[in-house]
Amino acid sequence: MGKIITIANQKGGVGKTTTSVNLGACLAYIGKRVLLVDIDPQGNATSGVGIEKAEVAQCIYDVLVDDVEAKEVIKPTSVENLYAIPATIQLAGAEIELVPTISREVRLKRALEEVKDQFDFIIIDCPPSLGLLTLNALTASDSVVIPVQCEYYALEGLTQLLNTVRLVQKHLNQDLKIEGVLLTMLDARTNLGLQVIEEVKKYFHDKVYKTIIPRNIRLSEAPSHGEPIINYDSKSRGAEVYLDLAKEVVSNG
Ligand code: ADP
Ligand code: MG
Repeated sequence: MGKIITIANQKGGVGKTTTSVNLGACLAYIGKRVLLVDIDPQGNATSGVGIEKAEVAQCIYDVLVDDVEAKEVIKPTSVENLYAIPATIQLAGAEIELVPTISREVRLKRALEEVKDQFDFIIIDCPPSLGLLTLNALTASDSVVIPVQCEYYALEGLTQLLNTVRLVQKHLNQDLKIEGVLLTMLDARTNLGLQVIEEVKKYFHDKVYKTIIPRNIRLSEAPSHGEPIINYDSKSRGAEVYLDLAKEVVSNG
């Protein structure tokens, strides 16, 4: 049975997409069958795995709004064992179009139930908001990974995210767990980064992954080549740490 993991934080630029793409690709690299689901209208995870958005005929929008089956929209990617359900800018309308529909929060869950058995992991990349798309992701998931950028105000906004998780647990998905908190974009040359690590650990204790993602230029270059880091530069520090994270996620069960 596939484990469904949402990567969520309503803050933009904290490393959600980088983590979705590279955790997904590294899980595939170590032999897992992985489905990456892009539910951000910006479609950065989609292009990050080499799918040309202009050539996408049907995307997650059609699944959520028009009841197209998930298996109809799954595409192979530039990485073996890694498949994706793409998002295009069409998805921007879904947040509003879904409002009056029946069971609007459980549409992604229903759709993924049909394909769950074919994968070991399903990773969902969220938009930077706590709207209906993120609610669909949390409702569909076994757990959530929260990327936190090692910057000033790292913890700001997390109360809101944790409240949303609690509401989802209460009303929509009582089995939802916090899989882990991932520290991202650490600049080891500054004290600030280390202070943030301490602060986040004080708050989340053993929920914080041992693997910490440093700033790595290769990680920021890879998306423009449509390749996860493991394909773009498998010897880079970025590839190493996301491989470590993948192993940590597998060993956590
Ligand atoms: P989000 O999806 O939360 O908005 P992204 O994953 O798109 O965040 O990251 C924001 C920007 O930071 C992107 O340009 C990305 O390439 C870059 N980035 C993310 N993680 C790293 C990292 N560890 N090192 C360097 N650049 C990074
Ligand atoms: Mg993103």
